[in-house]
Amino acid sequence: IVHVHGLCKSFGDQRVLDGVDLDVLPSQVVVLIGPSGSGKSTLLRCCNGLERPESGTVEVCGRLLVQDGRMLDESGLNALRAEVGMVFQSFNLFAHLSVLDNITLGPRKLRGLTRRDAEERARALLAKVGLEHKAAAMPASLSGGQKQRVAIARALAMAPRVLLFDEPTSALDPELVGEVLQVMKLLASEGMTMLVVTHEMGFAREVGDVVAVMDGGKIIETGAPASIFTRPTQERTRAFLQAVL
Ligand code: ATP
Ligand code: MG
Repeated sequence: IVHVHGLCKSFGDQRVLDGVDLDVLPSQVVVLIGPSGSGKSTLLRCCNGLERPESGTVEVCGRLLVQDGRMLDESGLNALRAEVGMVFQSFNLFAHLSVLDNITLGPRKLRGLTRRDAEERARALLAKVGLEHKAAAMPASLSGGQKQRVAIARALAMAPRVLLFDEPTSALDPELVGEVLQVMKLLASEGMTMLVVTHEMGFAREVGDVVAVMDGGKIIETGAPASIFTRPTQERTRAFLQAVL
């Protein structure tokens, strides 16, 4: 569903992505790990057109998003973003909208659903993330874990074919991390295709099909969680794991 080849991206004279290759197959959970500044967020942002790389290709949901520094046009980008859900560390909910309206906005504006249909779907998604009772709540009244579960429901409301997560639990108090990981695990078990940047190694090990290790703008190692965690082939992977585990 996501195919990245030879992707390069610089900010000024700093090369942040240096020839990245990555594939996410249907129903796979690919967990991207690596030190701060290694380019993980930039790579995710390249997968939904938030960054413009200089070279390489990105193909997402059968659409050629980037080729040789050229990006899809605006209408193509919008169509693509409707299929690629993104969940950020900082939730990014609309503060002035209720939980229900946060979830129904996209489907109504971009998918042309009626309010009634959108709300019915939204309530089902809220039930899925365990927040049926919060439909009328405003984001400010929610805990971080609840906000992030609303953000996930909002992403799901667009019926995406792939979900990108950028450190979805990093802003949460430790006791709230589990409820968000639980929802992500449920989605994985239902066959959702996911590319997840996280420092939660337990999640990577338990839920990931593939772990990709990034360092210095390159993916230095890719493999099944069991092999990456027990016998990494790269010294830098070993050092990173030693620092975080
Ligand atoms: P972290 O674990 O801290 O989130 P990361 O692996 O997600 O790190 P990126 O956010 O992709 O790393 O950043 C990679 C490098 O690119 C960093 O050195 C960062 O300072 C730089 N960078 C990222 N975005 C920009 C930008 N918009 N302008 C300039 N430099 C940037
Ligand atoms: Mg990041």
